[in-house]
Order: sequence, then structure tokens, then C-alpha cells
Amino acid sequence: MSKHLISAYQSLPVSFSKGDGIHLWDQDGGQYLDALCGISVTSLGHNYPAVTEAIQQQAATLLHTSNLYSIEWQQKLADLICHLSGMDKVFFGNSGAEANEAAIKLARLYGNKQDIKDPQIVVMEHSFHGRTMATLSATGNRKVQAGFEPLVSGFVRAPYNDVDSIQAIAANNKKVVAILVEPVQGEGGIVIPDPGYLSALREICDENNWLLMLDEIQTGIARSGKMFAFQHENIIPDVMTLAKALGNGVPIGACVTRGKAADVIQPGNHGSTFGGNPLACRTACAVLDSITSHNLTENAAQRSTQLVALLREGLKGNENLVEIRNLGLLIGIELKQNCQALVTDALARGLLLNVTAEKVVRLLPPLIINEAQTAEIAEKVIACINALTLTD
Ligand SMILES: *Cc1c(COP(=O)(O)O)cnc(C)c1O
Repeated sequence: MSKHLISAYQSLPVSFSKGDGIHLWDQDGGQYLDALCGISVTSLGHNYPAVTEAIQQQAATLLHTSNLYSIEWQQKLADLICHLSGMDKVFFGNSGAEANEAAIKLARLYGNKQDIKDPQIVVMEHSFHGRTMATLSATGNRKVQAGFEPLVSGFVRAPYNDVDSIQAIAANNKKVVAILVEPVQGEGGIVIPDPGYLSALREICDENNWLLMLDEIQTGIARSGKMFAFQHENIIPDVMTLAKALGNGVPIGACVTRGKAADVIQPGNHGSTFGGNPLACRTACAVLDSITSHNLTENAAQRSTQLVALLREGLKGNENLVEIRNLGLLIGIELKQNCQALVTDALARGLLLNVTAEKVVRLLPPLIINEAQTAEIAEKVIACINALTLTD
């Protein structure tokens, strides 16, 4: 252990040296089943051939020029994202927080251009949008904000999955210009809103000339069983942010815009040195092409049905269980108690999973899993949870 790393993370005492498909190997050769994908990043599994090839070829051709010049792979990727989503224009950065920063800046610019003084953005309780100053201020979790005051102003908070509260804000606050919301709250504990929630928000945004901005950083890129989670409802956002699985491990983020949001950012308004470089964009093109050509969206939907059915069966009668929630392969198993200890126990059993919102076991398995692998994941998860004894 180096003493020269800032202790930002409470890392587990294991380090992986190799990955292939759904498996990882530690430095002693121990094998693990990866049901977390580096928190929804390596959705195609590790060492996915088409992605590896794209990285290798581009590394041997050209890594970086600058946004001072046009970048062919950036244009191809923007075309592909817009074709898949029905959106119009994309700005590329390097992470989720950066994608949300771009969205927040865009919303303020949108408001200021209409002479709305102090434009406000509606954000939700228990949301997560990142760790930069603006995105942690937008985040609905005190732990993420504590110690970093003064926070960025201009956010109005509402309960998640509560349309009435948004209507009340619309009636009383004429400074609001946008809503920023996750289609499913990931860090918040895989919280899935009622059907029709996003449609209702879409309607309120239309009535008030607000931008509907969806943070699809965790839900996007086929994990939900659709390419983008908003496609489960018959709506389209004005802004959508992407990152995590877009590069399958190569850092990339995207702020995707449509209609009246598409031309808000003009030359000189925003920028990024690395954002949209040839390596990241070519990799992301390979990711999206692979998902489409192998119908992995459909696979995610089918395997999630299988996995959740197996989990329900295997955990039936477990006194610790509150409920199992999922949208595709975004899966949360809520328990009655804090279950952080489960992470270490699972690791000892050769399984990677994670606990969020203290009581929710989070599974984000790769989209490439087959039927047998799905059964194996279920078996291991059930064994872990059933081995946990209920305290108090
Ligand atoms: C992970 C995540 C982010 C932040 O992404 P980073 O790449 O860590 O900056 C933002 N929003 C959601 C919904 C996320 O899951």
C-alpha cells in the first residue's frame, strides 16, 4: 500500500490484474464474477474484442489533436448517439460530472438568454449527479456536500417520484428553467419511479418552457433494457447526459441536446481539452455498434427477467428482504438492515457486488451474460444474502 495516495476511497484489500468477459482475476490468480461492472461502466464485460481492437487501432493511429480542429470520430459518435436517441447535438467531456456540468451551464445560459435572473434548476432528493462543485450541489445527499460549503446556488429541491411537488414549484417559482433528474435513482438505491413519471415531467416542462434534463449516466447505454431509459416511456428529453458505459472503461462523457436546447451553447461558451478525443470517441463508437449488432439491449431485458425471477425465488421467505427492484439490469435488493458487510462476504465467495443507500444490494451485471452465467450470478447472490443474519 502506497502512503502517497490521498485517502479518498476506502478500497477493499483486493487488486485485479486481468479481466475477460464477466470475470476478473486478482494478483494471486483468484477468479471473481463481476456483477458490478465497475459501477455500470464495463457493461460489455472485460476485454471485449471489438472494443479492444478499436482502442489498439486508434492508439496506433492518433490519440489526440484538439478541438481546435475537427475530429472525425467525434462526428461519427455524435451521429450515432443522435441516431439511437432521436436527439440533435452532442458536447463531449470525459466523465459523468463533466457531462452534468455542461447540462447545468446550458440550463443557466438558456435562462439568462431569456432574461430570467438567477435561473433555477429543479433537482431531486436522494439524487446523485457527481462530485464537482455544481454537481455535488445538485446532488440530494448531505454526505456528498458536507464540508464543501458554500454550495453552488440555483437549485430547488423536490421529492423524487412526486409530480404534485413539481407542479407546486411551477406555480410559485418563475425563475425555474429546467429539471435535472435520473430516470432511475442509482446511488439513491435503485429507486424506480411510477410509470408515467417522466411523461408527467415532460408535460410540466412543455407547459412552462423548462428543459427536461435526464441524467442517464447510470441508466443509459442499454442497461435498462432499452438503449436509453427514457425510451421506456413515450417521451424525449431536451438534454440527456451520458458517461459510465459509453466507453466501456475508456473515460468519456456526453451532454446530448435536442430542439431548443441544441443551439444554446455557442462558440466560446464551453470547452474541454480532452473531451471527444479520437481514442475515446472511436472506442464509444465500437461500444454502441457492438450493442446494436449483437442485440444486447434485448439480451439485457431477457436476462434481467431471468435473474430477477431467480432472485425472488431464492430469497423467498428471507426475513431480511424488503423488496427487489429493477429496470432491466439495474437491480436493487433492499434489505431491512445496513448490509455493507455483504460486499466483503461476496468478495470472499468470488463475487463483485456493491451496497448503496446502506441497505440496498446493487447488481449491475454485464449486458453480455448468457443464461448459465445469469443463473450462476443468482446462485451466488442468494447464497450471500441468505448467509447474512438479521440483527436486532
Ligand atoms: C456515476 C454518476 C455520475 C458521476 O459520474 P462521474 O463519471 O463519476 O463523474 C453522475 N450521475 C449519475 C446518475 C451517476 O451514476
